[in-house]
Amino acid sequence: MSSKRDFYEILGVSKNASADEIKKAYRKVAMQFHPDRNPGDKPAEEKFKEAAEAYEVLSDQDKRVQYDRFGHSAFAGGRGGGFSGMNTEDIFSQFGDIFGDDMFGNFFGGGGRNRSGRSKGVRGNNLRIKIKVNFEEIAKGTTKTVKVKKYVSCGTCNGSGAKDKNSVQTCGTCGGNGQVRRVQNTFLGQMQTVTTCPACNGEGNTITNKCTACKGEGRVFGEETVSLDIPAGVQDGMQLSMSGKGNIGERGGSAGDLIILIEEEAHEYLQRDGLNVAFDLYISFPDAVFGTQVEVPTIDGRAKIKIPAGTQSGKIFRLKGKGFPGISSYEKGDQLIHVNVWTPQHVSSEEKHILEKMQSSENFHPTPDKNEKSFWEKIRETFN
Ligand SMILES: [Zn+2]
Ligand SMILES: [Zn+2]
Repeated sequence: MSSKRDFYEILGVSKNASADEIKKAYRKVAMQFHPDRNPGDKPAEEKFKEAAEAYEVLSDQDKRVQYDRFGHSAFAGGRGGGFSGMNTEDIFSQFGDIFGDDMFGNFFGGGGRNRSGRSKGVRGNNLRIKIKVNFEEIAKGTTKTVKVKKYVSCGTCNGSGAKDKNSVQTCGTCGGNGQVRRVQNTFLGQMQTVTTCPACNGEGNTITNKCTACKGEGRVFGEETVSLDIPAGVQDGMQLSMSGKGNIGERGGSAGDLIILIEEEAHEYLQRDGLNVAFDLYISFPDAVFGTQVEVPTIDGRAKIKIPAGTQSGKIFRLKGKGFPGISSYEKGDQLIHVNVWTPQHVSSEEKHILEKMQSSENFHPTPDKNEKSFWEKIRETFN
């Protein structure tokens, strides 16, 4: 993953390029490295795929935001990492939006949306699920096994949607290749265009006798147990995507993606602020005077800290590296421990007596150190 090039760099656009600029840039790169123009050229094919991957992310507003925030690791949740599942067929289906179905054949001298010209079935929809993760799981990364309710391939017809082999017939309109050619008059003169066959929707065949279990869809509503790899350092609201784990398509069409929305569970004692985590510690007045040792909860267990004698209320201690890991860096946050000296709410008459004696003592009169940082300075320092 780390060897991946920056998506903006691949397309040769700036980070604040508009959707239109990205589209244009992709069209240029894709045409340059298109397999039809570079037959047998492996590096060109790699560049072609790389550009498709970059476009897939940068052309989708949601994905682009994720990418800008978290880099390539925003999509690291998938099995084997994000887009490795993107095959040439997916890339060609992407051309539909970029060049327009009609135009595609002209740019590359025919051939259409994929090599056979025929698209198998209909691609399934993406599926979104929410996953709750607690602080400990975020700290270490985790694997969650979930049952996902979704469309799965029909077992009766093996996803074909047909009752039997004899129920599948080659489409008469397109002769089975899923596309029809037609000649159009445009301002540039006559142009031959290739479009998806309207009779079979590009599938190349029609079904005369439908499978009864799935009513010809080739898929049924069911569930699949999916194992989700949640990397360490995820944050509330982040989306991970697993390619091919969404709804399966109709009649053998490829599956959509599974989009996993991260929901952070609140911790009983700790609060998250970016990579840092804050804890409010309460100590008694005598402990603040004499000093003490206390155990505090951390995101992945507990830690002992020493409170020195004479600790003021409001003091912030820092446990270095005890915060959250960054998702796309080796960075680690800190745990900040905010000391609160507990003021008793009720006192016995004996205690009252002792306190009244203390009241007159010089030692108990506040004499703040002029060099001590102000509240705001401390806040700025710890949360920056
Ligand atoms: Zn079926
Ligand atoms: Zn057809």
